[in-house]
Amino acid sequence: MSRPDATIAAEAQRILERLGIARDRFEAGTLAVRSPITGEPIGRVVETETAAVPEIIARAHAASLRWRLVPAPRRGELVRLLGEELRAEKQALGRLVTLEVGKVVSEGLGEVQEMIDICDFAVGLSRQLHGLVLPSERPDHKLTEQWHPAGVVGIISAFNFPVAVWSWNAALALVCGDPIVWKPSEKAPLTALAVDALMRRAAARFGDDAPDGLATVLIGGQEVGEALVDDPRVPVVSATGSTRMGRAVGERLARRFAKPILELGGNNASIVTPSADLDLTLRAVAFAAMGTAGQRCTTLRRLMVHDDVYETLVGRLVAVYRTISVGSPVAGDALVGPLIDGTAFAAMGKALDAARAAGGTVHGGERVDVNGAASFYVRPALVEMPGQVGPVAEETFAPILYVLRYRDLEQAIALQNGVPQGLSSSIFGNDLREVERYLSAAGSDCGIANVNMGPSGAEIGGAFGGEKETGGGRESGSDAWRGYMRRQTNAINYGRTLPLAQGVTFEV
Ligand code: NAD
Repeated sequence: MSRPDATIAAEAQRILERLGIARDRFEAGTLAVRSPITGEPIGRVVETETAAVPEIIARAHAASLRWRLVPAPRRGELVRLLGEELRAEKQALGRLVTLEVGKVVSEGLGEVQEMIDICDFAVGLSRQLHGLVLPSERPDHKLTEQWHPAGVVGIISAFNFPVAVWSWNAALALVCGDPIVWKPSEKAPLTALAVDALMRRAAARFGDDAPDGLATVLIGGQEVGEALVDDPRVPVVSATGSTRMGRAVGERLARRFAKPILELGGNNASIVTPSADLDLTLRAVAFAAMGTAGQRCTTLRRLMVHDDVYETLVGRLVAVYRTISVGSPVAGDALVGPLIDGTAFAAMGKALDAARAAGGTVHGGERVDVNGAASFYVRPALVEMPGQVGPVAEETFAPILYVLRYRDLEQAIALQNGVPQGLSSSIFGNDLREVERYLSAAGSDCGIANVNMGPSGAEIGGAFGGEKETGGGRESGSDAWRGYMRRQTNAINYGRTLPLAQGVTFEV
C-alpha cells in the first residue's frame, strides 16, 4: 500500500504552492497541522503574534476609512472577482478542505460552491443596500432611514466549515463597506492561507480602490481571537463555534458594547409523523445524521418517531447504519470520513457510555481501523433512548443519532424544543395540519425549520442561524446584511418653521 500520509502532505503543499503561498509560511511555523485522514502532520504554519494584532487592526481601521467611501456597486465588483477566483480554483480549494478537515470529496467541493453562491448573492446585494422613507408626523418634514458601513468586522470560525463560514461573512461585509479580519480555527489554518491567497488575487485585479488591510488573516488560537474580540476598533464580531466559546466571546463584546453575530452549537431534531414518506425520510435522515461524520452544526442529533411508523423506519435505519461506508475520503467513495481528532473520538465514547447508563440501546458507534492509530474513524451510532435523558440534551460533535418514540405531535414538539440549543429542525409528513402546526408560533422554536428534508444543508439565500444557546446571530442570505451595517435615522425639515414632535411647544 502507498503511504497515504506522505501523499496527503505532498498534495496539500502542492496546492498551497500553486496558489502562490511561500513554503516557509506553512512549513516553518509553530502551529502543527494534522490531517484527520491519517493523523499525520501536513504543515507547520507561522502564527500571528498576539502583540502584532493591534497593528493589524489599525491597518484594517485605516482601510475602513477609505473603503466606506467606495460606492457599494463598485465594492460588489471586488466580490465578483473573488467569486471568479473561487470558480477557477474550486477543485484545488475543495481538495484542500478534504485533506485538512477530512470531508468527503463532494462535501469539500460543496463547501467551495457555497462560497461561490454567497459571492453571487453579495454582488446583487451591492445594488440593494436600501433604506426606508417613512411618513413624518410634521409638515414639510421627511423621515428616512439609511444604512452605513459599520467598520472593521472580526470573523472567528470553526474547524468544520473552515472556508464557507468566512465567505458568508466576508462577502456581505465587503459589499457593506467593511474590512474583515479573520481568525480561522487553529485546526484548519492551511485552507485559510489558501482563501487569503485567492482574496489577494481578486484585490490585485480590482486595483487601487482596494486599500491595504482590507482583508487579513490572524493565525492562532484563543489568545489571538481574544485580542480581536477586545479591540475597540472592531465594532462587529461574527463568531462561529461552540456555545462555550460564544459565551466567552459574547461577554467580552458586551463589556465594550460591540455587536455580536454568534453562530454556536446546535442539537437539531426531526419529527417523523405517521403520514411521512418513509423512503424519502430514510435518505434524508441518513444524510443529515451521518454526513460530514456528524460534524455539522446542523447535523441531525435527535429523531422523534411516531409509534405507528417506529418499527418500520427504525428497523430500516439500523440496517443503513450497519452498512454505511466508512473510510478515507481520498481512497474510494466512502460516505463517512474521519472525526477531526482523538478528542472528538473520546467525547463520542463518553456520550455513548452515558446513553447506555441512561437506558439507551446503542447500534454501531465502534471505532473502524482505516489508517492506523493516529486517525479516528467510527461507525455512526443510532441510539434508541427511553426518553430525553442523559446526554441527549447536549451537543456531542460526532455521528450519534438519538431516537425517541412519541404518540402525540404536541409531545414531540415539546421534546424537540426541550433543549438549550435552537439552531435547526425539521418535520416529515404530508398532513397539512400537522406540518403547519409545526411551522406555527407554537411549533419549532429554532432559527431553521424544514419540511420533508433534514435539518442540515442550508441554501445561502435564507438567513442562517439559531436561537437560545445557538446565539441568535444571522448570516448569509435574506436581510442578514443589516448586521454588518449601522442604521441611521434622518429627520429632515424642508419648511420655514420648527414644529416639534409630539406637539411639544418651546417658544424662546
Ligand atoms: P470551538 O468553539 O472550539 O472554536 C471555534 C473558534 O473559536 C476557533 O477559531 C477558536 O480558536 C476560537 N475560540 C475559542 N475560544 C475563544 C475565545 N475565548 N475567544 C476567541 N476565540 C475563541 O469550535 P470548533 O470545535 O472549532 O467547532 C465546532 C463547534 O462549532 C460546534 O459546537 C458546532 O455546532 C459549532 N458550529 C456552529 C455553526 C453555526 O453556524 N451555528 C457553524 C459551524 C460550527
